Amino acid sequence: MTLALGCIADDYTGASDLANTLTRCGLRTVQTIGVPSDDLELPEVDAVVVSLKSRSIEASQAVAKSRAAEKWIRGRGASHVLFKICSTFDSTDAGNIGPVMDALRADSGDAIVLVTPAFPETGRTVYQGNLFVGSAPLNESPLKDHPLNPMHDSNLVRVLARQSRTKVGLADLAVIARGPDAVRVHLADLAAKGIGAAIADAVFERDLETIGTVALDHRVSVGASGIGLGLARALVASGRAKANKTTDVSGKPVGGAAACLAGSCSQATLQQIAKAEQAMPVLRLDPEQVVAGKNETQRALDWAKARLAKGPILIASSSTPDQVAALQARHGRDAAGHAIEEAMADIAEGLVKSGVRRLVVAGGETSGAVVDRLGIPGFLVGPEIAAGVPVLRAVGARDGEMLLALKSGNFGGPEFFSDALKLME
Ligand code: ADP
Repeated sequence: MTLALGCIADDYTGASDLANTLTRCGLRTVQTIGVPSDDLELPEVDAVVVSLKSRSIEASQAVAKSRAAEKWIRGRGASHVLFKICSTFDSTDAGNIGPVMDALRADSGDAIVLVTPAFPETGRTVYQGNLFVGSAPLNESPLKDHPLNPMHDSNLVRVLARQSRTKVGLADLAVIARGPDAVRVHLADLAAKGIGAAIADAVFERDLETIGTVALDHRVSVGASGIGLGLARALVASGRAKANKTTDVSGKPVGGAAACLAGSCSQATLQQIAKAEQAMPVLRLDPEQVVAGKNETQRALDWAKARLAKGPILIASSSTPDQVAALQARHGRDAAGHAIEEAMADIAEGLVKSGVRRLVVAGGETSGAVVDRLGIPGFLVGPEIAAGVPVLRAVGARDGEMLLALKSGNFGGPEFFSDALKLME
């Protein structure tokens, strides 16, 4: 199998977002957790998104991890690699976008790299090199106060130049609007001046399509899910990939028992749990007991085992903001959160041992803890249950065929748990 597109994402949720976007464009896409082992058996796919946690680590480490991912991707035949960054260009003058881009560009031999975090459908646009978050320039948006990567300059030509070894230029909207050939000529001019990276303006989806078409002439590009959309559409338009229906990638039914776990305490999840009570047995964990030891986990597993054969079940640690605050005051926020995440991972492991093959998890951190514990190296991305939440088919998992849905707190409608299970057969 030869990959049409390989992607390296600098964080997990950004990777899922990109994988979901590529799937919506018709590419059969696997998201891996970290750099996969060489013997990972992939299903027939067009794209792989390797998820790293490299956004806020030391630049040299981000470069090393990204290069390892690139090596794996190139080994699977991908001629183009997208380095997926945050659509708000989260970074500092020390990196890591510039250093990783420099390294990938050096490896690829490309004279110039196209860079754009634009994704108009989520309100990220770039004009004259300035990134807008909705109607606000980046440096006036909430990102100015980000705890790790405060963004004080909306001009990405300057931002990238400060963290890169190459000179940075601009492909402005006037050039992008004239189409791929005009952009190619402009990039050649920039490259002839020794400029190694060009921030590309994009305000509409058609701009991303132009950028994607031109980026495919190169071996590397840098951007958010928006450029992923442009690349995917260009691959399909040029016949280098076929547009698949997302339902086609969901494959044959997996069967087995079904269970839901909720560790998110968001408003949406609390409402979804209340709704689920009308559709399936629900066990509410006692968070105080969870922090106290393993008995609560065992109680949950015994409760589940007695019911799994009859239909789906839901186990929730979630409580209201007041109760969460009280538990945190008694035990500390991190200790309480960590203890509950561990308990959820224990319960997930026990459920899978008891035959659960369809698992829905609510909560971003909770999902991370569960996936790590189950040792799942990657997912084939299937149809969307709700905006941004696809059905996932485990790839290379030690427990065999499994379907998962991983939902971060506020996602999904009131019937999310039932909606998910309907699509997970
Ligand atoms: P979300 O996606 O809504 O942010 P997460 O799973 O990322 O959900 O985060 C929820 C955090 O709250 C996790 O660390 C989880 O262990 C913790 N948690 C879950 N239930 C409770 C509770 N009852 N009290 C305190 N913390 C809890």
